[in-house]
Amino acid sequence: MHTTCSCDRPSADPLAAFQARAAQYHSVVTIPTFETTPKAVKDTVEKTIAEGNAGLDVIGHLPAGAVTFQNTIRQLDDINYLVQGASDRLGLIEQTSTNAAVRDAATDAIKQLSEWSVGTDYREVVYAAVKAYAGTQPALAGEDKKLFDETLRDYRRAGLGLPKDQREAVEKLRKELTVMETDFENNVTKATQTLKFTKAELEGVPGDFLSQQGIKTGDDEYSLKANITFHYLMVEDNARHEDTRKRMLVAQSNLAREANIPLLQKILVHRDEVAHRLGYASYADFATETRMVKNAANAITFLENLKQGLQPKFDAELEEFRQMKVQETGDPKARVCVWDWRYFANQLKKTKYNVDAEQLRVYFPYQRVLDGMFTIYQRIFGLKFERVEAPYKWISDLQLYTVSDAKTSQPLGLFYLDMYPREGKYNHFAEFGITEGKLLPDGRYQRPVCALVCNFPPPQPDKPSLLSHDEVETIFHEFGHAMHTILTQARYSRFSGTSVPQDFVEAPSQMLENWPWDKTVLDSFAADYRDPNKKIPQAILDQLKASRLATMGMYYRRQLSFGLMDLALHTQIHATNADDVLPLSNQVLGEVALPMPPDTAFVAYFGHITGYGAGYYGYAWADAIAADMATVFEKSPDGYFDKTAGMRMRSEIYAVGDSRDINISIEKFLGRPRSLEPFLKKIGVR
Ligand SMILES: [Zn+2]
Repeated sequence: MHTTCSCDRPSADPLAAFQARAAQYHSVVTIPTFETTPKAVKDTVEKTIAEGNAGLDVIGHLPAGAVTFQNTIRQLDDINYLVQGASDRLGLIEQTSTNAAVRDAATDAIKQLSEWSVGTDYREVVYAAVKAYAGTQPALAGEDKKLFDETLRDYRRAGLGLPKDQREAVEKLRKELTVMETDFENNVTKATQTLKFTKAELEGVPGDFLSQQGIKTGDDEYSLKANITFHYLMVEDNARHEDTRKRMLVAQSNLAREANIPLLQKILVHRDEVAHRLGYASYADFATETRMVKNAANAITFLENLKQGLQPKFDAELEEFRQMKVQETGDPKARVCVWDWRYFANQLKKTKYNVDAEQLRVYFPYQRVLDGMFTIYQRIFGLKFERVEAPYKWISDLQLYTVSDAKTSQPLGLFYLDMYPREGKYNHFAEFGITEGKLLPDGRYQRPVCALVCNFPPPQPDKPSLLSHDEVETIFHEFGHAMHTILTQARYSRFSGTSVPQDFVEAPSQMLENWPWDKTVLDSFAADYRDPNKKIPQAILDQLKASRLATMGMYYRRQLSFGLMDLALHTQIHATNADDVLPLSNQVLGEVALPMPPDTAFVAYFGHITGYGAGYYGYAWADAIAADMATVFEKSPDGYFDKTAGMRMRSEIYAVGDSRDINISIEKFLGRPRSLEPFLKKIGVR
């Protein structure tokens, strides 16, 4: 760490000045050093593991009687922080590097680090030191006590309470799992398929989109990629021909199939075995123990209740789609298929509600949306963002911003923006932590750094990048995660930023998705890029809301189908029935939402199945909390611009992270116990 200017002399380099200011607050802002060659990636892994081993050796060699909180529990958090930091940065590189060899090296590196991390749980001498410290029956409180309790819980969940041979079996299974999980996700990212269509086959798909570079590839040939989400959605939302929609859906549902179905079978069987050896009835029980929901049965009940509550609405929506299909095809027996619903939902928007999602893009030029969102977040959370030049850029249009407290100018962190698609890049929208916040052993606070990785439509020669309303919601959501990361004040990295229970982590961001549905919010930035005096008319917004509610049953049944599929796989698949993975997944999807074509393998391309592992229910779970939390703003004098509510959010949710029980944090923010009512109302069940 260096500071390059003296405190009383402003530096010409704003980033250096920011770092110097951080030093005045006993905190550290570090510009991450990104590895740019496979060798550098490899060196980082070796260095990280060596440092980690050295740290563990120190714990392992502690003389009996010399164990303290600082030299055992706290030291373990420091070591995890070191390894997590390297792993997070390499995770970002894996998904964003423009060099395929570096991406591959990063994949290997992450595997190596996770395998090493799993192994650290099984160092007997380290465990002995922790046990010796626990034996002193320390009187701890607050964040220290939580760290202590959860460290011991981790050891139990790793199998350290088991006889040696069993413990070793769990270790082996877990190590193999980390490798297979990385492979699964990587297969999803790498999978690609180009479909060629004629103009006639693409009837209904916007001409603007089709004329883009790289899409029109011949006189009457258009090349679309099933693995690029917005290509996929353009077709599913707009193509009049059922065959075209079906081809696209089938192609997407089979991406990664060959590699990932056998792999998923192994992963699920391994997970099941780990859970059984540790004394849990299923992997879902094991995974949910540390989350708000506590066990698989609670998660399933929560989803099943919502599924039933939504049944009448879902049936009515499907019937409306069906009538539309009957009209369009002239076939009185027409049925709504899984490749139809997006199209008819879009048609319904256009015809019944007069909302043309594509036409709304003119109101959302990328830069205006970004600036507008920044203005709002700066205001409600009491912050200041400033654009600075990134010392290193992996792409030429990479942006870097500093975040400070608006009142005190205290530096809080940094975020990068990598916003447009390119070959080999992560193909969804996500926030990536790079450096987590933490109180360093020397007493200074390491401020966080993160990145938003998005895939907005690139600017065209004749017009800027224009976002859909969905994409506007997405950026409000993803940037919420950046706030969660950056505004942390947790002392230990284990509790810092978004390291909250997995079934809560989406809630603050899902709450922020309400913002772009509010007229006052939209009027603060959304305007026709050709004539900024033109705002979105209230009537359009009302229709947009009505049209959203009109398909809420479909939307949530689909979400619930993913959640229930995930729980079914993580409770019902064992070594004896691994072949059922694909049929079971399609069966649940079909029962809860719409039947999948028999020759498809949606689950193979569903990265969340391994990434979240019995955690997808968390989206609906967190949605319910999000709707509840949104009422705090909605009932405040300034609504979604309310600074008091925003500052309460910052202090009770973002700053504390997981350093106290999340249930307490939610109630402190709400000022009352939780309620499911706002959510049921929002989705049209009440
Ligand atoms: Zn999210």
